[in-house]
Amino acid sequence: MHKNLINGEWLDGPAVSRNVNPSDTRDLIGEYAQADAHQAELAISAAAAAFPAWSLSTPQQRFDILDAVGTEILARRAELGDLLAREEGKTLPEAIGEVVRAGNIFKFFAGEALRPGGESLPSVRPGVGVEVTREPLGVVGLITPWNFPIAIPAWKIAPALAWGNCVVFKPADLVPGSAWALAEILSRSGLPAGVFNLVMGRGSVVGEKLLHDPRVAAISFTGSVATGQKVAAAAVARMAKFQLEMGGKNPMVVLDDADLGVAVNAAVNSGFFSTGQRCTASSRLIVTEGIHDRFVAAMVEKMKALKVDDARKAGTDIGPVVDASQLGQDVDYIGIARAEGGRLAQGGERLEHNADGAPGFYLTPALITDTTAAMRINREEVFGPVVSVIRARDYDEALHLANDTPFGLSAGIATTSLKHATHFKRHSQAGMVMVNLPTAGVDYHVPFGGRKGSSYGPREQGRHAAEFYTTVKTAYTQA
Ligand code: NAD
Repeated sequence: MHKNLINGEWLDGPAVSRNVNPSDTRDLIGEYAQADAHQAELAISAAAAAFPAWSLSTPQQRFDILDAVGTEILARRAELGDLLAREEGKTLPEAIGEVVRAGNIFKFFAGEALRPGGESLPSVRPGVGVEVTREPLGVVGLITPWNFPIAIPAWKIAPALAWGNCVVFKPADLVPGSAWALAEILSRSGLPAGVFNLVMGRGSVVGEKLLHDPRVAAISFTGSVATGQKVAAAAVARMAKFQLEMGGKNPMVVLDDADLGVAVNAAVNSGFFSTGQRCTASSRLIVTEGIHDRFVAAMVEKMKALKVDDARKAGTDIGPVVDASQLGQDVDYIGIARAEGGRLAQGGERLEHNADGAPGFYLTPALITDTTAAMRINREEVFGPVVSVIRARDYDEALHLANDTPFGLSAGIATTSLKHATHFKRHSQAGMVMVNLPTAGVDYHVPFGGRKGSSYGPREQGRHAAEFYTTVKTAYTQA
């Protein structure tokens, strides 16, 4: 039984959740405590009590703790990556890569604890000095989704602690294993009791408690648009600070002048790797007429060679979908796209078992051609290995189609034209733009986030994370 960490103690919950391997549903990874609202309340109380002292901890103390956490994560990359692949279903190399990213994030924010910055400047009034500094917020509630079980928790927890906040962390129900392992490392890191609390449990119970408790100064949320809207409404009602990272319908434009190999590699990588379960996945390929047929043919060839199998098996390209409900959604959208007039050019086949006969949530990557911008498949997030192709006349129409979406997280273009690449970088209505690269796959030391329906509030990651996790103070002194 894996317990919750509240005020430095490991506590059983009133309920239990079973963490099951999507590559082999006979494999029970473990049982995890589910907190109720009372335990969430205890965690908030502990964090609030710990805040006055932690907010005055020295940068050296915070550096030492976060740096050591990063070191341990990196040292245990193989073991933690195996757990991540086993519970979430991304392939082992992808999972180890995510663990390494989490370790690097802790090390990056360890450094940031030593570089809080600030300004000292003369006032417009004679004899007066002005200082602009940043202070922590208090208790922050961190709510994360299932698709990056360790990296997203890391990119919220590390900056929160680096800048002197106390944390109540609620991970996704589907993937408690990586969150628990991270909490276990933090529990031995030298953090005073109550500074970091893990509260596994239902969103409707633990999550809601975080949204409504007046002692939670800020909420950082990553997940679906529907839940994000609830977070926003609750936070606005009590004027708490909040930040939302939500869905995507990320376009990749492929122009006639693209290097075909570069375009296909980028599209296959960002459309299908991690089973298409990345908020930055390219789910709309917008392809100009001169290259369209060659591009689709090359995509189909490349997709036929992808091996769909157990996430932890050597040679697997695409692991399973995370669970039965997400698999059902993926299959439904393939049906919706076909009913709307799309053509299933490749894949989309439900496999009940993997190559070894183990039962799992397998789906071969699906490519749907002959779609239009108005179809639901091009407007709604599927969040699986399902990619559609839209034909465009020329660059101008392709840019228009790329921006014709309620989302704005990531966007890509494959081209050898400096003119079009430069124009696209400026005119794409996305928070992140990629030229000749997959739309997914980002650095950990620079801002991450989107526009329109994808994101709300300050950016996460890199130095920009300070915008969310600190508040600015302006102090005037008469000499
Ligand atoms: P989700 O919205 O169902 O759940 C996200 C988290 O919110 C979970 O921890 C859940 O328990 C919690 N939650 C649910 N109801 C709640 C409530 N009423 N109050 C408070 N918390 C509640 O999302 P998911 O299915 O876990 O994740 C998939 C979604 O996440 C996709 O839409 C994907 O695009 C998005 N995502 C976005 C980013 C990004 O940075 N933009 C990154 C990864 C995933």
